[in-house]
Order: sequence, then structure tokens, then C-alpha cells
Amino acid sequence: MRPHASRAEIDHVCDRIREFGYRVHSIEGEGRVVIGVVGIGDVTACLESLEATPGVESAVRISAPYKFVSREFRKERSSIRVDGLEIGGGEFIVIAGPCSVESERQIMETAEGVAAAGARMLRGGAFKPRTSPYDFQGLEGEGLKLLRKAREATGLAIVTEIMSDRDVDLVAEYTDVMQVGARNMQNFALLKSLGSCGRPVLLKRGMSSTINELLMSAEYVTAHGNPNVILCERGIRTFETATRNTCDIAAIPVLNELTHLPVILDPSHATGKRSLVPALARAGVAIGADGLIVEVHPCPEKAVSDGAQSLTLEGFRAMMRDLAPYVELWKEGRATGARAAA
Ligand code: PEP
Ligand code: MN
Repeated sequence: MRPHASRAEIDHVCDRIREFGYRVHSIEGEGRVVIGVVGIGDVTACLESLEATPGVESAVRISAPYKFVSREFRKERSSIRVDGLEIGGGEFIVIAGPCSVESERQIMETAEGVAAAGARMLRGGAFKPRTSPYDFQGLEGEGLKLLRKAREATGLAIVTEIMSDRDVDLVAEYTDVMQVGARNMQNFALLKSLGSCGRPVLLKRGMSSTINELLMSAEYVTAHGNPNVILCERGIRTFETATRNTCDIAAIPVLNELTHLPVILDPSHATGKRSLVPALARAGVAIGADGLIVEVHPCPEKAVSDGAQSLTLEGFRAMMRDLAPYVELWKEGRATGARAAA
């Protein structure tokens, strides 16, 4: 309350809190009263109302606005099962593949190459969110069928992007993990419909979204019935132009403190440059990510999207070799229960 708020104002605030269904815990000092709002549930509407109530100086949230995804809700880290794999478990999972599925030959060659080099899942966009409506928009249903073929040939689980709530059933039929891209992180209709899609969701951070907003979006999916959400840091937009995005590497330990959900890093979109991808991938292992999602193309110069940041198959093999000793240390850390970042 403001200093010297009147008794009538204090009593009115207490009444309002009770009307919202919460308990009142008030601390009365010399000339200043602090009123605690105690209870469970989303307190946002109550706080907004109190902000507008006479005599109130400010209404401050103490506990996190998200619930299911918070570490307060679940202390142990969650691991998410995908086709026999566990993301957030004892294995560092590398997901690799092209930005877009372009042809049968391209996706098969990539799938076989990345599987041989140690990737555990295949990525590839069939529905592509492109800045320009004149750019390649993806092979859509045809792309999904090609991903299924690649899965059959290699055994790799599939991660592909879903852009619209209209396509949820179609995409869920073909993929193991539903990717929500940066541009759709706050497509709330889509997030709600993923609550009942029956597949884990890979939720990428919006390019101008805070960590809190990312967690609120994850909360949408979980609150609508799907607890299997994997978070992904993919770089955010800043004033810096040397890289496509600015990799917020600190987001990974921050998320590991705030949420029990697994967190992976996308060093490809985070940098936009092939040469920078292995260094960022190393950073991801060291800082306690649960895995990586990396763009790889058999001939990046011919890629229809994101060629500049795509590793060649040889580049991917080299990166995986380079990562191996770091991944060994990562595994030791997990085995002894120590989380590199937490
Ligand atoms: C992608 O994974 O190809 C993609 C479009 O990523 P983002 O949504 O992070 O930009
Ligand atoms: Mn891409």
C-alpha cells in the first residue's frame, strides 16, 4: 500500500483479494502496510485489479506465472521419450538434417549421412515459414511422405515443423516430434491444439521473446494436456549484425534453473554461418543443454533455404568427432547426477 493509506483503502484491498478467492496475509508496519495474496492459481487478474485499486502502490508477483513447467511444480528434471530415445536423460541427443525437405534424394542422402555420423533424429521442414511469400514454402504433404521414407530407411525419429492448427492431425501422423518455430512461438491457437496432438513438442524461442514468454508458451501446451515439451534456444534479435541472431547461451542455464523441461540449442539459426556452428555446438554441450538441432545439407550451395548456415555432411562428421570428448564429460556429469548447469 502507499505510505499512510487509509484503513478503508486497506480493508477494501483485503476484500478484493478475498473476492478473487485468495487469502490475505498482511504485515502492518509504521505508516506502511504490505499485503500478501496467498493461494494457488493464476493470480494475474487479481494483480491487475489491485494495481488499479485506490491506495495500492504496486502489485508485485512473487511466484512464477507459469505452473506446470516450473521447477516449483516438479523438482526433478523431466525426460521426454521419443521412439525409444530419451531427451533430457543420460544421452546427449543430436538432431540433424536440412532446413527444408527438397527431394527424395536430398533427404535420403542427408538422413543416411547424419545417422552414420551419430545423429539420433532427423529434422527437415515440410511446411516452411518464410519471410517472403515468393520464397519456397515447403513440399508440404509430399515432404512429410519423404520424411517417413527416410525414417523407414534409417530408423531415425523425425522432427518437423507445424505451422497451423489446421495441420496438426496430418503432421502428427508422419512425425515423432512436432516443431513449433520461432515465428509461431506465440501462435496460441496452435499451442492449444498441440495439447492434444499425442506427440512431444519442440518449442523454439521466438526471435524477440523473453525467457518468461517462452515458458508461458510451454505452459499453454502443458495446460492443454501435453506435458511433453522440449525447449529450444535458437538465438534472438539484437543490434548485432555479425551473426544472423545473437545466441543467448545463458538462456540454457537460466531455463535449467526455472523449468524441469529439457532444453536444446540450435547453433545453426543462432549464428546463420556454417563456420560458427561447431563452436556454438561445443558451448551447448559445455553449458548443460540436453542436445542440439543442427542444419545439414549434402550440397549447401544448392539448398533452397538456409544454405549459408548448413553444414556439409563432411562438416557434420567433423563436428561430431570434435564434440565427442565434450559429450563424454557431459555424460559423466549426468551419470553422477550433477547437472552441468544446475
Ligand atoms: C527451422 O528450424 O528451419 C526454422 C525455421 O527455425 P526458427 O523457427 O528457429 O527460425
Ligand atoms: Mn532453417
